[in-house]
Amino acid sequence: MTQSEARYFTILETLGDFHELIKTNVWVNNPYILGGGSNILFTKDYNGLIVVNKLSGKEIVYEDEKVTDVEVFSGESWSELVLWSVEKDYWGIENLALIPGTVGAAPVQNIGAYGVEAKDTIISVKVYDFKTNEIIILGNSDCNFGYRDSIFKQEPHRYFVISVTFRLSKIPRLNLEYGAIVNTLKEHGITDPSAKDMASVVTEIRQRKLPDVGEIGMAGSFFKNPVILEEHFQTIQQKYPDMPFYELENGQVKIPAGWIIETLGYKGIKEGNVGTYDKHALVLVNYGNATGEEVWDFAQKIIKEVKEQFDIIFEPEVIIL
Ligand SMILES: Cc1cc2nc3c(=O)[nH]c(=O)nc-3n(C[C@H](O)[C@H](O)[C@H](O)COP(=O)(O)OP(=O)(O)OC[C@H]3O[C@@H](n4cnc5c(N)ncnc54)[C@H](O)[C@@H]3O)c2cc1C
Repeated sequence: MTQSEARYFTILETLGDFHELIKTNVWVNNPYILGGGSNILFTKDYNGLIVVNKLSGKEIVYEDEKVTDVEVFSGESWSELVLWSVEKDYWGIENLALIPGTVGAAPVQNIGAYGVEAKDTIISVKVYDFKTNEIIILGNSDCNFGYRDSIFKQEPHRYFVISVTFRLSKIPRLNLEYGAIVNTLKEHGITDPSAKDMASVVTEIRQRKLPDVGEIGMAGSFFKNPVILEEHFQTIQQKYPDMPFYELENGQVKIPAGWIIETLGYKGIKEGNVGTYDKHALVLVNYGNATGEEVWDFAQKIIKEVKEQFDIIFEPEVIIL
């Protein structure tokens, strides 16, 4: 992808680096914390300081016969944490295998996949609060978690996530909500899956439909799955009886954004340097040397068409800078 440039750039290796950095003059230049950058689309140069977080390490802080609590520094790789967890036969995050990015970003958008969200295992998040200039620990309920949402999104620039503590279960906690998981387990003849089996099945399913990060330029699951009112859903369903949907507790209905994009004929199309992935319409792809701005223009074209055809307002899941 054509690159955007930052005016200032630094990498944090230790918490000491962070404490030093916030005392310097460069810190006043609109700092922005970057994990793996897998959920951000830069549409222009960044006129400020980009801070790449690489704080590493993890520690088991509590353990009994049922659970293990592990505190993980925010610059650790999420996927590697999942591999570590299933290797130890801990349960809770196996359905979140292969989600790109860092542990520190996981609570930011409350990452989720295959019926599981980060919030289900997070017990606390240690943060530096730029409003009060102190390190505090936010409990799960302080984080205001919602669908791809949290206090860290609601109050951007307020917190630096230092570490996240997860409660992992030693007792199996199978989540078989998704048919694709059940079918793939069946294909492999697995009737009593371990946490490791679950993670490898999820990995297999994801690899079938998602490109490798680094293989091609792309901007993840670009849009959130829209949530609409039952009445609105019924109107659309009359026209599209085969539309997939998930009923939510509050009488609202969630529609897969990928299905909407596919229905509009956008799956696998290419317009200039940008397009959608041929195996998964929700992934916007940079097929050439597209700028972030070109990707965003293409996304806006989809947003406009979805509004016209479905009367649904698509919201990007990706952060646009
Ligand atoms: C192919 C692909 C598949 C994906 N699949 C899924 C999926 O299934 N489910 C899902 O939920 N997401 C998915 N995503 C999105 C992405 O993986 C997640 O949002 C991930 O958490 C981003 O991690 P990151 O480290 O790259 O964050 P970045 O993109 O670097 O940052 C994301 C946001 O978090 C903030 N942030 C990062 N680290 C910190 C910190 N330490 N303190 C404070 N703020 C911080 C950033 O400022 C930014 O606002 C996918 C993305 C791709 C490219």
